[in-house]
Amino acid sequence: MTDSIALDELTCELKNQVASRVPDANLDLCLTCGACTGGCPASGQYDMDPRKFLRMLLLGMDEEIVKNPWAWVCTMCGRCVTACPMKINIPKFIFNVRAAWPREKRPKGIRGSCDQHIRSGNAMGVPKEDFVFTIEDVAEEIKEEQPDFKGLNITADRPGAHMVLNQNSREPVTEPDEMSPLWKVLHLTGVDWTYPTVMWGGENYCMFLADDEGWRYIMEEFAHHIEHNIKAKVVVNTE
Ligand code: SF4
Ligand code: SF4
Repeated sequence: MTDSIALDELTCELKNQVASRVPDANLDLCLTCGACTGGCPASGQYDMDPRKFLRMLLLGMDEEIVKNPWAWVCTMCGRCVTACPMKINIPKFIFNVRAAWPREKRPKGIRGSCDQHIRSGNAMGVPKEDFVFTIEDVAEEIKEEQPDFKGLNITADRPGAHMVLNQNSREPVTEPDEMSPLWKVLHLTGVDWTYPTVMWGGENYCMFLADDEGWRYIMEEFAHHIEHNIKAKVVVNTE
């Protein structure tokens, strides 16, 4: 006969750690219903899914969890929490699993983008002069070619603007024209806005890397610039 193990005899250090950081994660309430797994875009990758990953956590399989690359496949979309009848916060659990990886072992691409954002204010490493040149250049072209938008006013760091809007840094580099539909909507609706030139990249790879310090640094620099230099009342994150 197989020996049984009482759940309260298991050592679940990682689970306790996550529970202390995310008190509303509800980790112990899993019914194993599988609703989270059904809608998860990462289900089946590396033969893993959110229900199985959570079960491993509850069984104290800390080492297996922390070595499993599946933690990096999760998109942090949150569909699992929405579907879960017990509202178990799987993305926050996964975020903490990522944070348990030594930083140098986390995926190179995400790490590089996070580091680049910390260094240059955006994940693509675009110098702020190039960003400003690009937006002004695209705006000039629109004003010249499209009479309805002759008054288009695209600015960076304009003091006193009501709203600040950040920008995914891939667009000015690869598809600059893709920025203009939103500009036109804002123009036609009379929104008083400007771009910032400090930490202007709207993407957030430090969050995906589970680098709290990097993420905090970016947000603090961004907030400081808006509060002290632009003095805008509203911030819109386009990502
Ligand atoms: S947050 Fe992660 S685990 Fe949850 S559904 Fe999305 S990809 Fe799957
Ligand atoms: S949906 Fe919630 S309760 Fe059901 S298996 Fe997933 S985590 Fe457990």
